[in-house]
Amino acid sequence: MAAHQHNPGVIVAGAGPVGLAAAVALADQGIPVTVLESEPQLQHDLRAGTFHPPTMEMLAPYGVTATMLEQGIKVPLWQVRDRKEGVIAEWDMSVMSDITPYPFRLHLEQHKLARIIVDKLATYPHAKVMFGAALSGIEQDDTGVRATITQNGEEIVLTADWLIGADGGRSFTRKAIGTEFEGFTWPERFAVISTDYDLAQHGYAMNAYIADPTEWVAVFCVPHNGPPGLWRAVFPIANADQPDEEVLSDKETQARLRGFMPWQDRYHVPYSSIYRVHQRVAKDWRVNRVLLAGDAAHVNNPLGAFGLNGGLHDAMNLAEKLGQVWRKEADVSLLDRYVRQRRTTNIEFVQANSIRNKRMLEETDPAVRAQRFDELRAQASDPKSALPFLMQSSMIMSLRRAAEIE
Ligand SMILES: Cc1cc2nc3c(=O)[nH]c(=O)nc-3n(C[C@H](O)[C@H](O)[C@H](O)COP(=O)(O)OP(=O)(O)OC[C@H]3O[C@@H](n4cnc5c(N)ncnc54)[C@H](O)[C@@H]3O)c2cc1C
Repeated sequence: MAAHQHNPGVIVAGAGPVGLAAAVALADQGIPVTVLESEPQLQHDLRAGTFHPPTMEMLAPYGVTATMLEQGIKVPLWQVRDRKEGVIAEWDMSVMSDITPYPFRLHLEQHKLARIIVDKLATYPHAKVMFGAALSGIEQDDTGVRATITQNGEEIVLTADWLIGADGGRSFTRKAIGTEFEGFTWPERFAVISTDYDLAQHGYAMNAYIADPTEWVAVFCVPHNGPPGLWRAVFPIANADQPDEEVLSDKETQARLRGFMPWQDRYHVPYSSIYRVHQRVAKDWRVNRVLLAGDAAHVNNPLGAFGLNGGLHDAMNLAEKLGQVWRKEADVSLLDRYVRQRRTTNIEFVQANSIRNKRMLEETDPAVRAQRFDELRAQASDPKSALPFLMQSSMIMSLRRAAEIE
């Protein structure tokens, strides 16, 4: 028979950055929280690495932002470029100095954020992270949730009041509540090739999106083991039939880098990976006592760095509302407002803008490209028009929009 433990409070499935952020925001309100992570330790994840100003504002009260700033790279300038023409627009985020205490993007590998939050969680006696604990069953009624987990080959049943599924794009929780993951998958995969060759010496900002009708590129520099950091370049893979191993072969990665960076015969490439890219949003984010957040609820292409940031915004919004419900200051229907606010802005902002960014980079019509580039040049060169653009691309406007939704 399975061992049974009752944990009042909240079970969070997934010790990714979103689950951990939700956990710290709940624990900080005195709410008992148990995080389940199927892997034996934190994932050494090279996916997200860009944090927008509102995300830093939200994590600051927990002391997380201060440590992120110590470990990360501040990026006040970022560029839109053309692969042949060079810089089209350079955005200076300092025009937002009156709007946010963090007028820059922060580059930091997402596994480092996860580590910072896990260390923080360890300071709360009522917060627990269980590693090697895979959620494998969910039952619920009006009084609570029963989560079955498998740990060290043993089955354990945990009961709690609420369960947050922050268990990533392939979410068990999402499948368990039987909701659809609506949207589509792009035909092309993306390759991420990392090199320690310093692109800054060629005038690249630490973050640049490089348009090209044949092969666009997005680059961003993450701290890795210290300066010059690791430059991560994202490329689309045009040939849908080419096997992953071939795309990631030394010959291909070197050729791809050389095509874009014609300065060396060989680049040191410590990491390369390939992944499928989706634009999807779960139809339901709440079924009674089970809620979704982060990639479990929505996935998008990485152009604009909205995925993890949006997930962290979910986590903070949900933890605040769940706190009110937990303390009986608000009716459970408040949780549906979480869904309305975050699901709507994910569709209106994250999905729409990540798709638009990709379309802009890959535009093949020369007249459309030229017009778009002219608009960007004009917007970036005047602080008055740069400000609304940056408030949009930094996700400030999406949060203002969410706050308006009742
Ligand atoms: C190449 C790339 C670049 C990206 N760049 C950016 C960027 O710059 N900025 C940005 O905002 N976003 C970016 N993203 C998106 C970002 O990586 C994701 O949005 C982010 O990882 C989502 O965090 P999460 O905590 O929701 O899910 P995850 O990080 O996927 O974490 C989910 C966790 O749940 C665990 N888990 C899964 N199933 C179970 C189970 N049954 N039981 C218990 N635990 C389980 C997993 O092991 C994992 O640890 C990028 C993505 C890619 C692929």
